[in-house]
Amino acid sequence: MLLKSKVAIISGATRGIGRAIALELGREGANIAFNYLKSKSEALDLEKEIKAIGVESKASQIDISDFDAVSEWVKKTKELFGGLDILINNAGIINDKALMFMEKEDWLKVINTNLNGVFNLTHAAIIGFMKQKSGNIVNITSVSGITGMAKQTNYAASKAGIIGFTKSLAKEVAAYNIRVNAVAPGFIETDMLDNLKEAYKKELLKNIPLARFGSPEDVAKVVKFLVSDAASYITGQTIIIDGGLSIQGGSF
Ligand code: NAP
Repeated sequence: MLLKSKVAIISGATRGIGRAIALELGREGANIAFNYLKSKSEALDLEKEIKAIGVESKASQIDISDFDAVSEWVKKTKELFGGLDILINNAGIINDKALMFMEKEDWLKVINTNLNGVFNLTHAAIIGFMKQKSGNIVNITSVSGITGMAKQTNYAASKAGIIGFTKSLAKEVAAYNIRVNAVAPGFIETDMLDNLKEAYKKELLKNIPLARFGSPEDVAKVVKFLVSDAASYITGQTIIIDGGLSIQGGSF
């Protein structure tokens, strides 16, 4: 097992990519704390599913955009599990609109969840990581933050911000033996993709060289690699997981 007895916090793990990461890291022996916003029954089911693997798990209803609540959650998790080794900043939302129709609230909700959420959780963990001289952070960004995507100015800005955050923090804390990386998925089959119209999805597929949407497990396996010792010389990087979408020249 790659992560035996490590403790991982994953934001937004009730569904999709976060759920797959929680199970993947759990299967490698990590104890898993995760949060969610609304999906209580899915959260409790996942907690049980992770415990059945033979590791510890704790689900908490915490809004990732709430600085104080996130700080308290990290403190309590460390007390409960006896430490913290891995942080996965996964929670994210979309609220797609052309800029001319985008209200201030549409902008702020996405930035507060996707970007400020990463700040809140990482800020709560970083001093502990520095004191123990170890830690591993993976941030889930998006191809949208690299190539841009029409009607996603809020989302793409939040995701591009995460890439800058990742590089800057990687430089800041490398001397403390803390690695900070990101993964940038393209189109992954989760509830987020379900929001897209079928005709649009067919068009998108034409632009993906590997001719399929990704699975949450495609992302989870790369995250597992990044938090393992196999990636011990990798920091500040953003690994694109998109079936080749972005090498098509941003034609979506
Ligand atoms: P998803 O299926 O919509 O799940 C989002 C998760 O985030 C849920 O567990 C949700 O909890 C949680 N969440 C949302 N807002 C939250 C908040 N304020 N506080 C705490 N938790 C919150 O999303 P996904 O497709 O798996 O995406 C996961 C990450 O990958 C996101 O950062 C997304 O931007 C990124 N990504 C996804 C794709 C894709 O194609 N799917 C592509 C590129 C990047 P509840 O269930 O309680 O609402």
